[in-house]
Parts: sequence; C-alpha cells; structure tokens
Amino acid sequence: MNGVESKVPPNFIRTIITDDVKAGKNGGRVLTRFPPEPNGYLHIGHAKSICLNFGLAAEFGGLCNFRFDDTNPGKEEVEYVDSIMNDVRWLGFDWDDRLYHASDYFEQLYEWALDMIRDGKAYVDSLSADEIREYRGTLTEPGKESPYRNRPVAENLDLFQRMRAGEFNDGEHVLRAKIDMASPNLNLRDPVMYRIRKMSHWRTGDKWCIYPMYDYAHGQSDAIEGVTHSICTMEYEDHRALYDWYLDNINVPNRPRQYEFARLNLTYTVMSKRKLLRLVQEGYVAGWDDPRMPTLAGIRRRGYTPESIRNFCERIGVGKRESTVDLALLEYSIREDLNLRAPRVMGVLNPLKVVIENYPEGNGELLDAVNNPEDASAGIRRVPFSREIYIEREDFMENPPKKFYRLAPGREVRLRYAYFVKCVDVVKNEAGEVTELRCTYDPATRGGDSPDGRKVKATLHWVSAPHAIEAEVRLYDKLFFKPDPEEDGDFIADLNPDSLEVIRSARLEPGLAGAAVGSRYQFERLGYFCVDPDSTPDRPVFNRTVTLRDTWARVKKAEGI
Ligand code: ATP
Ligand code: MG
Repeated sequence: MNGVESKVPPNFIRTIITDDVKAGKNGGRVLTRFPPEPNGYLHIGHAKSICLNFGLAAEFGGLCNFRFDDTNPGKEEVEYVDSIMNDVRWLGFDWDDRLYHASDYFEQLYEWALDMIRDGKAYVDSLSADEIREYRGTLTEPGKESPYRNRPVAENLDLFQRMRAGEFNDGEHVLRAKIDMASPNLNLRDPVMYRIRKMSHWRTGDKWCIYPMYDYAHGQSDAIEGVTHSICTMEYEDHRALYDWYLDNINVPNRPRQYEFARLNLTYTVMSKRKLLRLVQEGYVAGWDDPRMPTLAGIRRRGYTPESIRNFCERIGVGKRESTVDLALLEYSIREDLNLRAPRVMGVLNPLKVVIENYPEGNGELLDAVNNPEDASAGIRRVPFSREIYIEREDFMENPPKKFYRLAPGREVRLRYAYFVKCVDVVKNEAGEVTELRCTYDPATRGGDSPDGRKVKATLHWVSAPHAIEAEVRLYDKLFFKPDPEEDGDFIADLNPDSLEVIRSARLEPGLAGAAVGSRYQFERLGYFCVDPDSTPDRPVFNRTVTLRDTWARVKKAEGI
C-alpha cells in the first residue's frame, strides 16, 4: 500500500461539532440531516454529503434525519424518491423511522407565513416575475421597492389566503418577506417565500397550489426537527443570512445553525443533476445506472463497493475551498478494497487458441489456483487444464520488439498455475492473420516452476478451451475525455466516443458459470470485474470496474506526495 490513508484528513465541521459538544451547546445533542431533492438520482457528490451528515452524527452519538426537500412539484418523481432511499441504504446508512419531507411541514410553514404577514414582515406582491427580477437591482445597485410592498396587513392576509384557495393563476402573486431592498446581500432583498404553482405534488396531491421556496422551507424544517448542525454546500453561504433571518423572525421551537462546505468535484465527470438528466434523456448513456455515470446507481452497477466510497469520502476531507478531486483517487479506493477481498479468476477477453502438441488428448487435469494471495483463508480452487487452451491475443507477437517478453515463436513462457509452454509453430488464415499457436509444454514445470531453475520472463493467464464458458465483457473508459467537461459550456462535445467497449465472446474459467449478479472478481492481469444484471443463466455479462494499474500512485509520485 502506498500510504494514502495514513492520516485522517482535516474536516472543519468535525472540529466545530467537537467544540459545540464540549461547550454543551444544544445540550450536547447532535442532529444532522440529509436533504435531497427528489429530482434526479444521487451522485458521488451526494455521497460526500451523506457520509458527512450520517458519519458525523454517528461519531458524536447523535442522529441524522433523512428529509426529502420536496418543494418543487413538477420536477420531482417517485422513481427518484425510491432510488435515493435505496442508494443511501446501499451506502450503509440508516435513518430508522426518521424519514421526513418538507411537505410534512406545509401547513406549519403556511401558518408561520400568516404570522409574518400579521407582524408586517411579509407581503403579497403582484409584480410579474420579470418585474421582480428588474426591481431586485444588482450587486452594485440597490433594488427598488415594489409598489405593493406597503399593502395593509388585512389585504395581505386576504390575498395570501386566496392564493392558497386557488383563486389566482400561476405568477399572479407571490408572498415575499419584507426585509431590505437595499441590502448588499441580494438574498435579503425581499425574497420570495411562496409562489403559485397549480401542479399536483407527489405527496400532497392537489391539496396545495402555493409552494414554499427552498430558503423559506429549509431552515424552518431544520428547526421543527430539532436539527443542530445543518450542513450544506458553499453555494448556500450567501443564503445563510436569510436562513438566520427567518429563524430570528419566526417563533420556531429550536435554533439550528447552517455550515457550508465545498462540494465534491471530480475530474472527467459532470455532477449537476441537470446535466446527468440530459445524458440520460438524450441517450448518451443507457440510463441513470449506466456504469459510466457518476450516479451511485451507476457506480454500484460498475462494481464499486459502499466501503470504497465511504473510504474515498473520508480521504478527500471536508474544507471550504472549491477543489477538484482526481478521478484516480476514487479508482484507488476501489482497488484497495477489492484487492483485499475479490477472488482471483482467469478470463481471456480476446482469445487466441493454443494447441499443446505433446499434451495428451482427453479431458486434461485439474490444477490448484490461489483464490486470493492477500487472504489465505480464501483457499484454493481447481482449474481445468487441457491440450487446447486460450490465451490473450495480445500476449503473442510474431515479431516481438525488444521489450516484449511474452509469447513469440521459439519463446518459452509460464502459464499461471500450470506449465511452461514454448511456441513451436504459428498457424495463419488466408488473410495472414494468426489463428492458432502450436506449443509444447514441459511436464516437469507443473504448478509453474522449473526444477532445473530455468527462468521465463512472462506469466500468462489462460483458460482451457473445451471447459471455458463464454461471456460478454464490457470495458469502460472515462465518460469524458477532458478533465473539466463543464469548462466551456458544451459538455456534450467532450463525451469520449470510446467510453464503452463490448467484448461479445470472452472465455472464462468454468467456475464462473452462474456467478451471482453483483459479485466481484479480479480477472488476473486484467482488472476487477463484476456481474451485471443483464446476465442470463447461460450468458454472464461482466463489467470491468477498474483496471489493475494504479494511476493514483503515479499521480502521487509525480506530485511528490
Ligand atoms: P446538483 O447541483 O448536483 O443538481 P443539488 O445540490 O441540487 O445537486 P440536492 O438533492 O439538493 O442536489 O442535494 C442534497 C444534498 O447533497 C445537499 O445538501 C447538497 O448540498 C449536497 N450535495 C449536492 N451535490 C454535492 C456535491 N457535489 N458534493 C457534496 N455535496 C453535494
Ligand atoms: Mg439542491
């Protein structure tokens, strides 16, 4: 191992909570929440937030609530709701009976809005959306007050109640907080609290036609649940003043605090749900769970383990500065995990037949193969060997260059767990392509070593031709060929056209017949693979999770880490 995981990386929120607990704030209680909006599948960025919220709560003996931030009917779907809960559970976290929804609080939020109107802290505005934007001003110019800003309380109450009753159309009125149109923080320039949206909601149906804005719903939901630390990403930093303003001006039962951290960005990856939705809708990938997608559903199907993702999230640390994590670090995390637990097997992706001329005809023999050199308890298995085997086409060269040590005419190599073989002839078709190799073997080298101390420079994987099973294997490369596909707008132009290679007829050792969907293996020399749900009983489909090459080690070496 190369020491990446040697120390716990900084996490300033852990420090804040430690201090709060020490100081006895909130009676020493820690309650966090994970608040996804069900408008898409979760991605690896969400995993950072999930690990942080559930992880910190557990560390401090607290709890983490699960709350759907479902204030946006129209964009939200039950398919997303189900996938999100499934993904969080898969990552290894549990909210017990603490599943909440912002929509659980619609009635309470409405009551508080009425209170605010009565207190002169909210008013119904009848400007159009465009006008509201115009009146808002800019970072350098103050906003202008709406002509409706000083409506009498009674009129505001009446209008707001009629908004709720469905008497107006979308966009006719909004409810706004009365704060300060000249505030240097644009979020405080009389933010919209409610808009009319005549749309069915996946939970509340047609009960409501006015819906609270995120900013108005979020802090109050935190307060209702007794959340102590409301942890979100940096883009909400400028919203914190508003978060606090609402809590200061509403008679809430608890006082949560908001803390912001930098979101996770990954090289060669887009993360925004809007962009991921486009990849799905326009057919650039096969679905939300396409193994090239950075969604948790895609990553899971690709073969990642929840442990590897949790380790990754711990390893990247939590700070406030925007940064982009090297995709190689994510791959390092899964390699590290699977190295310890994935059984080794042999499979040939691109088969080249080899006939061993001096090996007896018939059913051959069984040879011992080590299941996992990292784990003696994994034991050994027996792999059939016979006169006809397949090796990897690229492990043979008729005219090898200087540094090619694998099989070539007249050259001897080791077959893993089997024998030394030597290439004695090359069979070609009319087009001059190599179709078969003729070899001889040395029976004295059974198990892979020569008693006379003879050395070979390469060890090849192989499968016995009559015993092997056929499989489809899907090899993946980065979905985008640019490290920052979001850089110049058109991320679609940065899609890697070669991100998927399908091998229709790989040959695998027979023990892999019937391998369970989701099970993971190391194919010796080729990488880690897992069984895809597209498999059928007589034709398994394998996804390559990751190659064996550790690019992270190279990154670190180059950077002198
Ligand atoms: P996106 O911008 O990717 O569409 P979002 O922020 O709109 O995501 P939500 O469903 O609102 O998605 O996110 C739920 C929680 O996950 C929020 O607290 C959000 O801050 C956090 N989150 C979203 N993306 C990331 C990320 N890349 N890194 C860390 N946390 C994230
Ligand atoms: Mg959001």
